[in-house]
Amino acid sequence: MPRVRESNVIAAQWSPNGSAVQPGDLTIPGASVYGANVFGPDEQRARLPKDVYRQLQATIERGEPLDPSLADAVALAMKDWALGKGATHYTHWFQPLTGSTAEKHDSFFSPVDGASIAHFSGKELIRGEPDASSFPSGGIRATFEARGYTAWDPTSPAFIMENPNGAYLCIPTAFASWTGEALDTKIPLLRSMAALNKSALRALRLFGDETTQRVFTTIGPEQEYFLIDEQFFYQRPDLVATGRTLFGAKPAKGQQLDDHYFGSIPERVLAYMLEVERELGKLGVPIKTRHNEVAPAQYEIAPVFENSNIGTDNQQLCMQVMQNVARRYGLVCLLHEKPFAGVNGSGKHNNWSMSTDDANLLDPGETPHDNLQFLFFATAVIKAVDKHQGLLRASIAGAGQDHRLGANEAPPAIISIFLGKELEDVFTAIAAGEPAVSVAREVMNLGTHVLPDLPRDTGDRNRTSPFAFTGNRFEFRALGSSQSPSFPNTVLNTIVAEAIDDLCEELERAVTGGGTVEDALSGVIKSTYAQAGRIVFDGDGYSEEWHQEAARRGLLNLRSTPDALPEMVSEQTTALFGNYGVLNERELHSRYEVALEQYVIKLNIEAETAADIAATMLLPAAARHLVLLKDAGLTTLAQETAAMIGEFEAAIKTLQRANLDENHPQDLMDEARYMRDTVMEAVAAVREVADWLERTVADDLWPLPRYSEMLFIK
Ligand code: ADP
Ligand code: MG
Repeated sequence: MPRVRESNVIAAQWSPNGSAVQPGDLTIPGASVYGANVFGPDEQRARLPKDVYRQLQATIERGEPLDPSLADAVALAMKDWALGKGATHYTHWFQPLTGSTAEKHDSFFSPVDGASIAHFSGKELIRGEPDASSFPSGGIRATFEARGYTAWDPTSPAFIMENPNGAYLCIPTAFASWTGEALDTKIPLLRSMAALNKSALRALRLFGDETTQRVFTTIGPEQEYFLIDEQFFYQRPDLVATGRTLFGAKPAKGQQLDDHYFGSIPERVLAYMLEVERELGKLGVPIKTRHNEVAPAQYEIAPVFENSNIGTDNQQLCMQVMQNVARRYGLVCLLHEKPFAGVNGSGKHNNWSMSTDDANLLDPGETPHDNLQFLFFATAVIKAVDKHQGLLRASIAGAGQDHRLGANEAPPAIISIFLGKELEDVFTAIAAGEPAVSVAREVMNLGTHVLPDLPRDTGDRNRTSPFAFTGNRFEFRALGSSQSPSFPNTVLNTIVAEAIDDLCEELERAVTGGGTVEDALSGVIKSTYAQAGRIVFDGDGYSEEWHQEAARRGLLNLRSTPDALPEMVSEQTTALFGNYGVLNERELHSRYEVALEQYVIKLNIEAETAADIAATMLLPAAARHLVLLKDAGLTTLAQETAAMIGEFEAAIKTLQRANLDENHPQDLMDEARYMRDTVMEAVAAVREVADWLERTVADDLWPLPRYSEMLFIK
């Protein structure tokens, strides 16, 4: 069984001297710099007193509380290491509800008697007080308690960010209000991992495993992105303000040829990728794959999976480094979910599993016993995804996602699970109480039913499924490219923890009634699959038939963000997060409010930007073009163009009127729907005429770079 590689294990494997990495295993150039800017286990061991090191490891590995008196020793070692790396400042690095990261730098140095002394205490390591009032809290922080504080997360290693003009130490932290409520995305993620640990250990004990001490979740996010030339970016106020193009006619050469996918990588882009990988390597982010994606100018990067907390921090670093490094190559990295209409958008595939220190719990395994356990955990995932499909959908909602999910592109807004044929057959057979045909060398006895060997890493894939089993993990493929994986994984961990507990209860009941776990399991799977099996679908998720079939099965189809977000605060969700201590009602509501608010703000910026560009750049260009036509005596064309310009003017007026403050509804949800239905419709109407004009107006008069330039100039 493959061993799970966590970041510190990986770091060890990657160390230049202890090279356990096989040639070709990983593609990072300059593996010798791997982890150079991380205060990881090696540095800790070398720099900390033995007992402090041991206690710190106990905290990191087993979640034991850290004795605050050790913090001074850790802070001192960290400071010396950071100064040696040229760092002058430190920051608590945290993840507020906006989904990005935040930092406030403080100097290590303070003037003492005319000299400058470097100072960094345990207190400063453990707790920070950023001026938090400007971060969204969704109403948690009333003004009298406006301060928030950051708290060191020792389980995610500190690292150094470099800049040509200096460097600074980043300390991963959680961010909470003084009342102890989470104001960030890390705290609930950690809580959800603890919840899953508890439930999964309970299950393992039922299966006779008395030794495993912890179960954690792992993620490996595959990130899609676009690269365009920087000069085009600056000529497009829409890209600068919103991250996506609000105008742009489809190019003659679009995606039709499909010649970009896995094609050879252009040289400038490859140079960029290599530098991104080297920079991330220094930060201990193990990048594994890179390739072209389906759309022109679209690419993908994926790290080796890690435990979900570290993997999430690293994913944030990944997005930041990708954007920073692009500028060095005269490129801009676009992480928006839909930068270009009519061209594939970008997503993030969240590969997810549960693991002990020795084994991946979603690996079918070699022995009947492993298989039994695997079936149990896979059943729990199916049950969880079916029950909480709405919440999962809500966890990936956002303005950018509305252009993909449920719109004109994959994956669909309907959450379903792809199991692959063999595994689906196994479940169907158990559910039907039929003995499955045994064709395999290894058979498993599940009560009276003989099952075939479980599929191991079957090749079959379904690109249209939002949630697919891929041999030894599930791939939640519906995340947005710009999104933090934090909340979707918080949801996944918590819903699976709940499902595991539910299944454990059923098993425990059956076993108390006399009977073996093995016997009981087939009954439990049968009854669970009878209910939850409707979520399993192996066909084309984009097809119209599936939409109809899904409706018949009673599956949710939440097409837009305002449709999906209420699932975050439903009774079922509130009970789930409350029961598992992941988010209390106030924390949950604050997230809902912030998500809804962000949606409205983003659409508002889009609407204002679209109106501005149309009125001040495109309309004047069209008017100049009209003069040109008239001067040339091209009467028919001039008449046609004049009519279009008239339409354009009217569409712009309609948009401006629709987006007047006084026309926005007061209630936030009403406003979100109004933005979606009325304002964005008005934006679309303006765009339609603009894109027609783009095909007509003289090239030298048209002020915006075209899709054909942005997408094909490399
Ligand atoms: P594909 O494009 O075929 O889906 P990639 O190699 O691009 O595959 O990415 C697969 C991702 O899945 C990688 O990030 C990999 O580390 C991750 N992964 C593999 N095993 C697991 C696991 N047990 N848990 C979480 N992620 C995993
Ligand atoms: Mg991939």
